[in-house]
Amino acid sequence: SEERALNFIEEIVEEDLVAGKNGKRVLTRFPPEPNGYLHIGHAKSICLNFGLALRYGGQTNLRFDDTNPTKEDVEYVDSIKEDVKWLGFNWANELYASDYFDKLYDFAVALIKKGLAYVDDSSAEEIASQKGTPTEPGTPNKYRSRSVEENLQLFADMKAGKYPDGAKVLRAKLDLAAPNMHLRDPLMYRIKHTHHHRTGDKWCIYPMYDFAHGQSDAIEEITHSICTLEFIPHRDLYNWFIEQLDIFPSKQYEFARLNLNYTVMSKRKLLQLVEDKHVDGWDDPRMPTISGLRRRGYTPASIREFCERIGVAKRENMIDVSLLEFCIREDLNKTAWRRMAVLDPIKMVITNYPEGQTETMFSENNPEVEGGEGGRDIPFSRELWIEREDFMEEPPKKFFRLGVGLMARLKSAYIVKCDSFVKDADGNVTEIHCTYIPESKSGNDTSGINVKGTIHWVSVPHAHTAEVRMYDRLFQVEDPSNEDGDFKEYLNPTSLHILPNAYIEADLASAVPGKGYQFIRKGYFTLDKNSNAGKLVFNRTVTLKDGWVK
Ligand code: ATP
Ligand code: MG
Ligand code: MG
Repeated sequence: SEERALNFIEEIVEEDLVAGKNGKRVLTRFPPEPNGYLHIGHAKSICLNFGLALRYGGQTNLRFDDTNPTKEDVEYVDSIKEDVKWLGFNWANELYASDYFDKLYDFAVALIKKGLAYVDDSSAEEIASQKGTPTEPGTPNKYRSRSVEENLQLFADMKAGKYPDGAKVLRAKLDLAAPNMHLRDPLMYRIKHTHHHRTGDKWCIYPMYDFAHGQSDAIEEITHSICTLEFIPHRDLYNWFIEQLDIFPSKQYEFARLNLNYTVMSKRKLLQLVEDKHVDGWDDPRMPTISGLRRRGYTPASIREFCERIGVAKRENMIDVSLLEFCIREDLNKTAWRRMAVLDPIKMVITNYPEGQTETMFSENNPEVEGGEGGRDIPFSRELWIEREDFMEEPPKKFFRLGVGLMARLKSAYIVKCDSFVKDADGNVTEIHCTYIPESKSGNDTSGINVKGTIHWVSVPHAHTAEVRMYDRLFQVEDPSNEDGDFKEYLNPTSLHILPNAYIEADLASAVPGKGYQFIRKGYFTLDKNSNAGKLVFNRTVTLKDGWVK
């Protein structure tokens, strides 16, 4: 894509390179906590971190921030790796913060020896109440003056498993009067007798985020540690630990997280939707997860393009989901082959077409591309499925499809004229009877007849059946997390609409998940992963048009 202005992080990197900082090296990291599947917000962070490395000849580490054993799982580790790769990025090293537990423990001991950390026996409530307020300093408790020797012994005992969960914590001895509350003797370690997905039962003390993240960056010699705005107040502490430990000076930079309307993006909330079965798993096509978008038919290129368009800013805003839809629509318009599928079928009988006869109609794969990318032969016969909405019993003026006396072109085939229709006992139209104009065949039309409307169709004896799933926004309101009550009250009850009995052209029987098709006049679709030869299921990726303006 065309050159754009540098974003503020690229400007920082370029200044650092010019100044010869970090040995003119760029090393970023993407640090997911393996406690859920990645979502479109993570894609923004991935594109930013990997994009910087690609742009400046650097590298990116994939580091699992797995310091909190209670919510983490290998299922999530595997899905994260799959999603990053699928987005098109390659990491330099696959790393785990838990691999640094020994080093982090040694760092903590070093700080205790410098008199900069102490073991505190207070409860969480006591610690909170001793912290003061933004305008009043905190008050030191009796544990703060423990000797280095006593702290070393107690910390070793914490590690050895002598104390139950919550009995003690290790805190930095920093500044109880600091205006930044994060500097008021922050916690470094807590006791948790919990099995860890990688380290097993080796540890019963686990480092806090603030004591793990910066040190992990420093161990890897990360040059630019990029995170979201809520970590601004953590930056002083990030720097303090690095300075006191005299380790590699990684630097933290903050950008605005992605917020997308009509969805939620916290992993905790997405997990609730999965656990309460409001959706069909983390990769439900309505989920804002990478795996959900993939199953829905989004391409990696469309997601990268979306991240490029939203840009990198220092102030939070809400991005309209229609921009994401715009990006996939643009992509699929250029790449998706056109196919015919009748989603809500009604039968058309061409009364002047010989019974038992079949001929083939040629239709190109993609008129958006020069040469059409080839095409395929579509069987045509006396009986066709057409879309119920393309016929009206009492058509209004300017209805350019079918009604008694009206004419329309069958896509890539003949012009037909509607003569009559058949109703069942309940008054439902069950069949439409037409005659075709033999001289009007597409590509060789000598009929001299001009019709305004073109409709799609599938030959009855040649059609395959499919279930087609139409999706709408998962939530009825723009920002469900900011409404009164529980966010789940705002779920859209009609976010999934199933068309159980669609007819598709035979060629679609060879569709594979992830390959996008335009169902002519109906939108873009892809095969769902739960399809099999006995039951084809298609997901609508996106509609053909929307109000979004470039
Ligand atoms: P959640 O609140 O969904 O649990 P998280 O920030 O705790 O998100 P992590 O796994 O820690 O999730 O995130 C990995 C990286 O992705 C972090 O650097 C984080 O800042 C970034 N990230 C997470 N959500 C977004 C978002 N909405 N926009 C941009 N970056 C994000
Ligand atoms: Mg996090
Ligand atoms: Mg989180």
